[in-house]
Amino acid sequence: AKAEGRNTLRFFEKGMDEPLQARQALKMELRRGLIQGEFELVYQPLMDLHENKVAAFEALLRWRHPGRGLISPAEFIPIAEDTGLIVPMGEWVLHEACREAAKWPGPVGVAVNLSPVQFRKQGLVDTVAAALAASGLAPHRLELEITESVLLQNSDANLAELHALRAVGVRIAMDDFGTGYSSLGYLRSFPFDKIKIDRSFVSDLPDDPQSTAIIRAVMALGRNLGITTLAEGVESARQLAALRTEGCDMVQGYFFGEPMAAGDVEQMLQQSPRI
Ligand code: C2E
Ligand code: CA
Ligand code: CA
Ligand code: CA
Repeated sequence: AKAEGRNTLRFFEKGMDEPLQARQALKMELRRGLIQGEFELVYQPLMDLHENKVAAFEALLRWRHPGRGLISPAEFIPIAEDTGLIVPMGEWVLHEACREAAKWPGPVGVAVNLSPVQFRKQGLVDTVAAALAASGLAPHRLELEITESVLLQNSDANLAELHALRAVGVRIAMDDFGTGYSSLGYLRSFPFDKIKIDRSFVSDLPDDPQSTAIIRAVMALGRNLGITTLAEGVESARQLAALRTEGCDMVQGYFFGEPMAAGDVEQMLQQSPRI
């Protein structure tokens, strides 16, 4: 019985240790990968439904791991956030995205995702300004995407940070709109340029009356507040048609293009595709 107890205990300890060890290992791997330049950005088009063409690209992070292949951000961003590595990683993303976008024709913009952890660290405004200066990208062509968790935590300081970013001339979008606790309150506390409606509200269009009602209400909200509306995760012509009917300003999703390598962006822009 004693031996069994010990085995049970050992099993338990092993079960507790393993995820921690795996996390620890991944953290070391992340740091190594960042130093060795294994991260890259892919870009997904954001389509303007009034002009019927590409307006911008969202930069999305990928890790090209030597042994494990391409790793999605859902796997490593949480660990990068826990360990603080998201700060140098995010700085690299800003510089890289601005450098790339500066090669694109004039009006085409770039959207960059910011982690709430980047707000807690001093110097975000300086980092953004430095990325713009180094690349020569006009500030209004950079859009920063934040989730409402930025305003949830440490809200006064983060709100001040958002205003300081706005003063640099960049645009601010609220990402994943509708998925959090009180998106509406945040629209009152900060004048966002754009709301990105989460794809969970788009996936059941046009057949689900609840989704249609929510989309309709969000479109009215955007119109009345003077905020650009963008629907994420558009995968079909029927979803697109429904969003047009409801007056959505912009769309993004596999229907228009999956995230692509930087070289493919330049090619796409040369062809200047219309919707
Ligand atoms: P997100 O900001 O909501 O980005 C949109 C995600 O939806 C992307 O996943 C994109 O590939 C995916 N997507 C686009 N169109 C469709 C569609 O039609 N259908 C479906 N099912 N999915 C679509 P991805 O690239 O795996 O990124 C996941 C998340 O990781 C992002 O969600 C964002 O929160 C985070 N992330 C990505 N890059 C960065 C980064 O540079 N910094 C930070 N802090 N977070 C990042
Ligand atoms: Ca985003
Ligand atoms: Ca999103
Ligand atoms: Ca998301």
